[in-house]
Amino acid sequence: MKKQFKSESKRLLDMMINSIYTNKEIFLRELISNASDAIDKRYFKEASEGKTGMSRDDYEIRITPDKDARTLTISDNGIGMTRDELENNLGTIAESGSYKFKNENKDEKNDTDIIGQFGVGFYSAFMVSQKIEVVSRAMGSDQAFLWTSEGSDGYDIEEAERPEAGTTITLYLREDTDDEKYSDYLQEFRIKSLVRKYSDYIRYPIVMNCTKTREVEATEEEKKAEDYKPEYETYHEDEKLNSMIPIWKRKKSEITDEEYNEFYKNKFSDWTDPLKVIHTNVEGVLSYNALLFIPSQVPFNYYTKDFKRGLQLYSSGVMIMDSCEELLPSYLSFVKGLVDSQDVSLNISREMLQQDRQVKAIAQRIEKKILQELKDMEEHDRENYNKFFKNFGMQLKYGAYDEFGSNKDKLQDLLMFTSSTTDDYATFKEYVDRMPEDQKFIYYATGESTDKIKKTPQMDPFKEKGYEVFLCTDDIDEFALKMMRDYDGKEFKNISDKDLGFEESEDEKKAAEEKNEANKDVLDAVKNVLGDKVSSVIISNRLKDHPVCFATGDGLSLEMEKVLKAQAAMMGGDEDTLKADKILELNSDHQFFQALKSAVEAGDQEKITDYSLLLYDQAMLIEGMPVEDPVDFSNRICKLMK
Ligand code: ADP
Ligand code: MG
Repeated sequence: MKKQFKSESKRLLDMMINSIYTNKEIFLRELISNASDAIDKRYFKEASEGKTGMSRDDYEIRITPDKDARTLTISDNGIGMTRDELENNLGTIAESGSYKFKNENKDEKNDTDIIGQFGVGFYSAFMVSQKIEVVSRAMGSDQAFLWTSEGSDGYDIEEAERPEAGTTITLYLREDTDDEKYSDYLQEFRIKSLVRKYSDYIRYPIVMNCTKTREVEATEEEKKAEDYKPEYETYHEDEKLNSMIPIWKRKKSEITDEEYNEFYKNKFSDWTDPLKVIHTNVEGVLSYNALLFIPSQVPFNYYTKDFKRGLQLYSSGVMIMDSCEELLPSYLSFVKGLVDSQDVSLNISREMLQQDRQVKAIAQRIEKKILQELKDMEEHDRENYNKFFKNFGMQLKYGAYDEFGSNKDKLQDLLMFTSSTTDDYATFKEYVDRMPEDQKFIYYATGESTDKIKKTPQMDPFKEKGYEVFLCTDDIDEFALKMMRDYDGKEFKNISDKDLGFEESEDEKKAAEEKNEANKDVLDAVKNVLGDKVSSVIISNRLKDHPVCFATGDGLSLEMEKVLKAQAAMMGGDEDTLKADKILELNSDHQFFQALKSAVEAGDQEKITDYSLLLYDQAMLIEGMPVEDPVDFSNRICKLMK
C-alpha cells in the first residue's frame, strides 16, 4: 500500500505540481545543492573519523539525460539515505519554516511567491516531473532502497540495488505543453547553461557525458586524393560543467553583481537581492576569505527562536559549521555569510570554538570590517543606509546599550534617530553640527510615535527656541542613550527632565521662584491630595497652552518606567519598585489654574480633590500611561459638566 505524505507536505506537493511558477528551472539547482550537501557530509564524516576512504577527487555529481526514456538523472556518491531517512527527509517537508510561513500569511502570499522565496528543495522537482524515483544507499550500509512517487497521492519504498553509497534521482519529465517544453531539460546545452548559471561554484565536479563530434582520421594518402572530404563522427566524453571554484575564492573584480546576488539568494534562502555585499580576502599571519551579506529586508523569522545567528564556517573549502555564533557579535546578528580559513582546524568542535584564538581573531576583524562598511555606506550612500537602519538600526542600539556601553566608541557614529526638525534620520554628528551656540545638551523625547511626541506639551519650549529634538520611539532608545551618556562632550537630556539646562538670566530665575512662592498654598493643596503619587508639584516654566504635564527628576524617565514595568510583568518581577520620580508641573497662566486657586481660597476640599486628581490623570494620559481608575476619572468629568 502507498504511504501517505504528511498533510502539510501533501499540500506543498500539490502546489508544486500545479505550479504556474515561471522559474521551474531552479529544480536542477536544488537537486545539485542536495547532492553537494550529501557529499560534504560524507567527506566531513570520513575526514573527522580519520578514514582514508575516497580521495577528494573521487566525489562527483553526475547528470544523465535520456531522451528516449524522457528521464533526467542526477546522481551523487555522497552520504546516501537509509530507509528511515528516505521516509523522513522526502516524506515530510523539512522544518525549514517555509511552509509555516505560508500558512501564517495565507492572504498575502500566493504560491508563486513561496516557491520563489524559498526554493523548497527537493519538492521543486515535481514542477517538471510526473514521477520521481530515488535510489539511495547510506554510507556504511549494504542495502539500498528505492523511493517512488507520482505526486501527492503518496510514495512507495522498496528494497533496491546500488553498487555503492550515494543517491540517484531519476525524474520522469512531464509531457510538453504549449507553454512548457519540459523536454528542453534533456538538451545538453540547456543543462550546461543551467549549471553555469546556478551551480558553478559547487565544489565537486558536476559531470555529464556529452555528445561531441570529431573528424574521422584519414591517412595521408586519402587526404591527398582530389575528391577528399573530411568525415565526421560523434562520440561521447565526460565533461565537467562547473568551474568548481567557490565564489568567495575568486577575485572580486571578476565576479558580477548578479553572481553575488544569485549566490546569496540560493545559499541563504532570501528572495531579494542583498542590500550590501562585503567580500574580503585576507592573507598574512591569519588568512581567510569572508563573504558577507546585509539583507535588504528583515528575515521573516528574525524575531523568533528559529532564527540562527552566525556565519557559516569553512576550513579550506569544507563546510564545518552552519551557524557559527562566535564569528559575529550579537548586535550584528542580521549579517549572513561565510568565512573560509585554512587556519581553522577541520575537527574543531562547538565547545572549542570559544577558546580558539584563530576564530576569535577572525571574529574581531570581521566585526571591524562590517562596521567600516556600514560607516562608509552612511557617508556615501545615505539612501541605502537609511534603508538599512530602518531594518536593523535597533540592533545597533542594543549593541550600544549592551555590555555596559563598552561598544559606544564603535557604534555611536552609526546610530541615528528621527529628528524633530527634519523629520528624517539624523546622526549625532549632524545634530551637533547644527546646534545653536547657546545650546548645551543633545535633547531627546520618547513616545509611541513621532507624531504623538511632537504634540506633547514638553515639546513646546523646543519649538519656540528652534532646538532640534531626537524623537525616540523604540523601547531601547533611551536605555542606549543613558548608557552612552554623551556625544562629543554633550550630554543627552530627556525633554521631560525637570531641569532643561536652558541658559537663564538671574531675573528669569528669580521670577520663577517668586511665582512658586506666591502660589505655595495651591501647590501644597494639590500635593496634599496626590500624596506619594508625585514627588512635588510646581509652577511650570515650560508650558505654553497646556494646563499640565509631568517632568521627571534623576533616575528613571516615565518611558523607562513603562518599558521596565512591562518587562517585569512578563518575567513576574516586582513592578512597584520601578517608579520614575514624577514632578507635576502646572501652568499658572491657564484658566483652570484660577479655578483651582479659587477653590483653595474658598477652602472647598471636594473641588480641590477633584481638580487635583483630574490634573494628575490628564498628565498620565499625555504620557500615554493608563489612568489608575478610569471610572472615577469619568465620574469626575461628569461632575464638572453638570
Ligand atoms: P534541504 O536541502 O533544505 O534540507 P530538501 O527538500 O532539498 O531540503 O532536502 C530534504 C532532505 O533530504 C535533505 O536535508 C537531505 O537530508 C535529504 N536529501 C536530499 N537529497 C539528498 C541526497 N542527494 N543525498 C542525501 N540526502 C539527500
Ligand atoms: Mg536542499
